[in-house]
Order: sequence, then structure tokens, then C-alpha cells
Amino acid sequence: MRMYDIIRKKRDGEVLTNEEIAFFVKGYTEGSIPDYQASALCMAIFYKGMTHEETVALTQCMATSGDTVDLSRFGTLSVDKHSTGGVGDKTTLIVAPIVASLGGKVAKMSGRGLGHTGGTVDKLESIPGYKTSLAPERFMEQVEKIGVSVIGQTGNLTPADKKLYALRDVTATVDSIPMIVSSIMSKKLAAGCHSIVLDVKVGSGAFMKTLADAEKLAGEMVSIGKSCGRNIAAVLTDMDRPLGSAVGNVLEVIEAIEVLKGNGPEDLREVCVALATEMVTLYKGVPVEEAKALVLDALTSGKAYAKMVEWVTAQGGDPAFFEDPNNYTGVTTAGYVAADKDGYIQKMDTELIGDTAVILGAGRATKEDSIDPAAGIMIEKKTGDYVKKGEFLCRLRTNAPDKWEEAVALYRSAVVIGDEKPEEKPLIYKIIR
Ligand code: URA
Repeated sequence: MRMYDIIRKKRDGEVLTNEEIAFFVKGYTEGSIPDYQASALCMAIFYKGMTHEETVALTQCMATSGDTVDLSRFGTLSVDKHSTGGVGDKTTLIVAPIVASLGGKVAKMSGRGLGHTGGTVDKLESIPGYKTSLAPERFMEQVEKIGVSVIGQTGNLTPADKKLYALRDVTATVDSIPMIVSSIMSKKLAAGCHSIVLDVKVGSGAFMKTLADAEKLAGEMVSIGKSCGRNIAAVLTDMDRPLGSAVGNVLEVIEAIEVLKGNGPEDLREVCVALATEMVTLYKGVPVEEAKALVLDALTSGKAYAKMVEWVTAQGGDPAFFEDPNNYTGVTTAGYVAADKDGYIQKMDTELIGDTAVILGAGRATKEDSIDPAAGIMIEKKTGDYVKKGEFLCRLRTNAPDKWEEAVALYRSAVVIGDEKPEEKPLIYKIIR
């Protein structure tokens, strides 16, 4: 078999066989197929697409290109949630303990933030003592005993995706649905969960900017997950405004605790209830209404909050953190950004708000940057709210006073104020089961 023939076949719009796809993935991962041939194939796929069968084959070959996690000891109880990334997205911190308090097994490897989107591992590391790296057996034991552990990515999972994603990033071939689907789903399959709920974000702060694109991506991922034998559902949620009020690591942990205690912002609570309901429906095999009632009870009874404390302290988190988490938010510079005129907030450019948080120190511009756990934004007014000149839009917090002016200017540029009340958009667009 020759890589040349595989590239030519796809260039001419033909369908690749499973053997050809396996040859490519293995050869590229091992290094016998060079970057220039892999880039040519990516570009051919970008233009000619892939059939469902080709995408399944690509996903499965990438999923087994390195280590895989064996969660078979948890039977059908293992359940995962994956978000395509957003601003203020702290849902894992809330849904993981809800689901674990209801008997689900959440063995989760999460990522760090990059660019304008935050990462769960960075948020958890803002809790003093929390260990995001555990030996595999210790990780499994915790899931067995407590029902939940969240750690950073370890081992050599999906090396084919690591190489291919880096190549796509520099060859303008990231935004191809079969390649995005196989990239995300290969990682989920390698992580070993029986049931998977995808939170596909839509809007200015998301990877998918339009509902049509998000629906297409979500539909494909659900279909590939089913073809690979998983229980799967996708929830399409709004990212045209940040989720909740807090953007920044410890601020988001505190907001998650508020939701688990039955308080917190309504939008965040609604998205978390929808995601947790889908997770419970999948792993318990119960109707949606029954799952939702269980989720709401876990929140109102305090069971989910107690589970978060149990999980975090088992993983080394300081119990004192939960006594008064606001003790951990100290910064040298904080202040409000006020509206410069009367009117409705018509639009929030969520990506720019994420970028503002990065400037304040809450995220990284490059992989090497360090995070300031206490830096970030508390949003006071969101899209659709009426503001008077001088009223506060948000409070910014940083330990980098030299970045203050830049952050204020960027936040202002992200918020459009005008006379017309904007049309109200749904928070949850659609659920694909
Ligand atoms: N996220 C991924 O993990 N892979 C892609 O291809 C795009 C977004």
C-alpha cells in the first residue's frame, strides 16, 4: 500500500477502505508517513469529506493509536461529559458530583485552558492541595469508592490525534467536520466511558459560531458514538454570552459551589441540570423526567454538594477551602467597568470576554504561561439587561496592575449597548439523542 495512492483516491473524491485509513493512521503516528503527505490527505479530506463509515474507521484507528483506559470494572455505570469549550463553563465541577451522588461513575480526564476558553484542571488547581495527577490505580480506587475523580490527561492517549491536530492547526484544515468528529470522539472512546454526553457550545465564544454548524457537528458525533457502541447524547447550548457570572479559576469554583448549594446564577443551573439529566438518563436507562427529578433532588437535598466536598478532599484539597472560599480570592487590583451610556446590552462578544480574562491572568496565551487562580471577571450585566450610564457591567480582578487599562478597554469593546432590546435567545437549543 502506498500513501501516494491514498491521497490521490481521496483527492478524486473516492471512498477510502478501512485498511487504507488504518495504514495512514499507523504510519503517520509511527513517523513512516511524513507531514507533507499527511497534510495533503487532510486537505483532500477537507474538500471531499468522508462517509460515515470512513469517519468511524478514522475515529476507531485514532482511538486505539495509543493507551486506552479500561473502565469495564464499572460496567454500564461509567459516564463522561465533554464540552467543546467556552467562557465561564464550569459545568464539570457541578455535574460530576451530581451524577456521582446518584451512583454514576465519573472517571474524568480534563484539559487545561488554552486561548479564550478555560479548562477544568486549572479551575481545580485553584483549590489549595488538589492533586490533578494521580497514579492510575489510585484514580480507579477513588472512582470506585466515591464515584468521581477528575485529573489531568495522563499516559499516551490518542497520539495520532495529538500529531494530526497539531498538523491541521498549521495547514488550515481544522474546520472539517469528519476530522473534528474523529478528533473529539477518538479521545472520548480512548477514555473508556460507556455513556457520553456532549455539550456542544454555539455562539461567539464557541468553536461553532452558528447553530447549523453546531447541529451538524453534534449529529455526526452522536452517530459516530453509537456506531462505536456507546450510549451518547448531545446538548446544544448557548455561548453567545458567558455561562454564569464568574470567569476565572477560583471565582468559577466558588460559583459552582453556590449552584451545588442551591443558589448561583439561573443560566448555569439550567445548563447543568440539562447535562446531568442526560447523563443520568443514559447510565441508569431511566426516562428523562425521572432523571431530572433525581438531579433536582441531588441539588436541593445537599447530596451533590456533600459529594463535591468528599471528592475534592479525597484528592488532597484543603477542607478549609469550603469553610470560606472567599478567603482565596485576594488580588492587588480590582475595580468595576461602568456603562458609558444608557441602553440595552445587545451583544456580548464572548471570545473577547475570554481574552479579557486571559489578560488579567486567568488564562494562558501560550502553553508555557502560568495561571493566576484569583484573577478574573465577575459579570454583573448580561445580554438583554438594561443599564444606565455609570452602572457597573462587571468587576475585574488581577494581580497585574500594568494590564488594567488594556483589560478594561477590551471588556468595553466586547459589550455592545444600544436602544433596541435584543431578541431573547434560548440557552439550550436542542438535545440530540
Ligand atoms: N477539538 C478537538 O479536540 N479536536 C478538533 O479537531 C477540534 C476541536
